[in-house]
Amino acid sequence: MSEKIERLKTLILGSGPAGYTAAIYAARADLKPVMYTGMEPGGQLTTTTEVDNFPGYPEGIDGPTMMIQLQQQAERFGTEVRIGMATSVDFSTQKGGIHKVTIDDSKVVEAETVIISTGATAKYLNIPSEQRLRGGGVSACAVCDGFFYKGQEVAIVGGGDTAAEEASYLANICKKVTMLVRRDEMRASKAMQRRVQSLPNIDIRYHTEVDEILGEQVVEGLRMVNNQTGEKEEIPITGFFVAIGHKPNTEIFKGQLEMDETGYLITKGKSTKTSKPGVFASGDVQDKEYRQAVTAAGTGCMAALDAERYLATIETHAEVN
Ligand code: NAP
Repeated sequence: MSEKIERLKTLILGSGPAGYTAAIYAARADLKPVMYTGMEPGGQLTTTTEVDNFPGYPEGIDGPTMMIQLQQQAERFGTEVRIGMATSVDFSTQKGGIHKVTIDDSKVVEAETVIISTGATAKYLNIPSEQRLRGGGVSACAVCDGFFYKGQEVAIVGGGDTAAEEASYLANICKKVTMLVRRDEMRASKAMQRRVQSLPNIDIRYHTEVDEILGEQVVEGLRMVNNQTGEKEEIPITGFFVAIGHKPNTEIFKGQLEMDETGYLITKGKSTKTSKPGVFASGDVQDKEYRQAVTAAGTGCMAALDAERYLATIETHAEVN
């Protein structure tokens, strides 16, 4: 006998601030949301130590605790949180159509609305010293962790807009920022390049790559290498920031939803609507610019409201017919 396929009003994929905020709003609107957490329950914040910039926590909060509290809040209103990963999707192109999502390559779930909050993953250099010192001075988010290095010397790798923006942010807080750019020019916009070039405490090193981050438990220094001459140089630093881009977690939506050239989901206007009716996107999966927990939470709220309104139009339509 075949198992009956479960049909949901609202299915949420991903368990970062966007997913949980969508869940809180959807549950309170009686959409009976079910959330699948994805591979990294709690999302990127679980890899952060202290979160000091989320409003409402005057003393700060550590990332994992914050995510547990968000889960509890979502569950308090009836969200069902399940461990599992969406592995393929078949989204309907019809308004009012039913979307199919396969979980862990085995179970198929049907849903009237789907909120995608699968986030993005920071790219790392993937050298052993960087992996060893993650949480010990290596960070992929200057806005999250820069404050811990107030008055200290730090380094940042990358030459894009993110690296330029984060280097400027760090320059405001830190004594000195060494910026490693692997080519003879940055990829960042000219305006951002001018900005970093104008700040006296940013030392830009072109044609320079990371050889090794120094320190056993915590970052103590950096060995850089000039990729033209092979010359190596060591500098003392306490914080090392990686800003070489993010990869949105959208692999399974390829061919199903519109994306930009870098794989971020495209949403319509100020809404969270994707290219398929009843499918909404919130958080970093559709935002390469702001990428903050609080902005992700904001778009999670929007996605739940968009889903609620969409369902109301479907139901009105069904009643009329
Ligand atoms: P990005 O534009 O892809 O730039 C990544 C940078 O990291 C490039 O300079 C790249 O060097 C370098 N890089 C990549 N792998 C590296 C490695 N293994 N070692 C050393 N360097 C490496 O990424 P992004 O800066 O995160 O920006 C992503 C998108 O968001 C862009 O479209 C950007 O314009 C946008 N954004 C906009 C704003 C804003 O408008 N305020 C702010 C942030 C981001 P190469 O150039 O040599 O490849």
